[in-house]
Amino acid sequence: MNNSKGLIVIVSGPSASGKGTVVSRALEKADEARVDVQLSVSMTTRGIGKNEVDGETYYYVSREDFEKNIADNNLVEYNNYAGEYYGTPKDKLEGWLSQGSSVILEIDVNGAKQVLEQYPEAVTVYILPPSFQELEYRLRSRGRDSEEKIQYRLAKGKNEIPEARWYDYILVNEIIEESADDLLSIIKAEQNSRLRVEYKIDEVLATYGKEEQND
Ligand code: 5GP
Repeated sequence: MNNSKGLIVIVSGPSASGKGTVVSRALEKADEARVDVQLSVSMTTRGIGKNEVDGETYYYVSREDFEKNIADNNLVEYNNYAGEYYGTPKDKLEGWLSQGSSVILEIDVNGAKQVLEQYPEAVTVYILPPSFQELEYRLRSRGRDSEEKIQYRLAKGKNEIPEARWYDYILVNEIIEESADDLLSIIKAEQNSRLRVEYKIDEVLATYGKEEQND
């Protein structure tokens, strides 16, 4: 493992579980919590929703553009969800990792599996809604989907939630603020896990018996 590299943090959960809000709140609090973390902005062919911003929530592209990015090998992973493409751009991710920043990837279970094949050391976090009633309420209140899409997303959630069993961490998202704090705690703890910082033992040992360096 390259010790100076950042950590990939995969965050998944059914749509409307609130994972997007948890992630943005965690990013707002990251500086204060002294966590060096960036967000990977995905590319999608789906339409832009209310309160969404091109380049912030997603890069909204045409089907042709997306397929060109697949062909040019510009995506770490991609998936087809509800008839639309979603994928993770490669360039920024690699840049942040090599400068030592951790990166959150908010992607579905399928994408998570593809990323784990390439980055087995990635940390996985699954965001659960408190209940299906709450999930349905949140899907309806964001007013983005047709009835058909709402039913599709609920059924998809039911099929997907058992996959949470193979994630490293599970957060039940009742209170955004708490879930955001928990996510930052996970990232911080993982950044200090022995596997990632074991090299520091030798660095410290190497200072034994040496004179103090005064600049
Ligand atoms: P939504 O349309 O609700 O924003 O997202 C639908 C689903 O696509 C969610 O489960 C979301 O996590 C997933 N998703 C968003 N971006 C990506 C991506 O880049 N790759 C993959 N595989 N899934 C994504």
